[in-house]
Amino acid sequence: MHIDHIGIAVKDLQQAIDTYKKILNRPCLKTETVESEKVETAFFQTGESKVELLGPTDSSSVIQKFIDKKGEGIHHVAFEVEDIKQEIKRLAGEGFTILNEQPKPGADNKLVAFLHPKDNHGVLVELCQTRSANEG
Ligand code: ZN
Repeated sequence: MHIDHIGIAVKDLQQAIDTYKKILNRPCLKTETVESEKVETAFFQTGESKVELLGPTDSSSVIQKFIDKKGEGIHHVAFEVEDIKQEIKRLAGEGFTILNEQPKPGADNKLVAFLHPKDNHGVLVELCQTRSANEG
């Protein structure tokens, strides 16, 4: 397992892209909207890990709710796993609260599942697995 990316909730994606361009001194890798989550994302490559900026596309977005409650900032840490279904099973067996027991399509061609922050010392943990060509 390595850190695939750190997700940062931002109010204004374009503004945040400009900020992180300056910090990292490189262009944004790609932007992508995840309609089902009502978020627009922007990725920056930083070594083997990435920074994922997350902006709400709608006031009902989970990112908007997060910002309303906590303000902008780190939203989640994502770990890349080889077999997400197996990891969900293993962690559920360890007593972790899995927010979606079925992995769902996320940004960056991944299948994702989230672990509730209450079990993780306050950090929302994302598990992600790169989707192979023959998977939905
Ligand atoms: Zn993420």
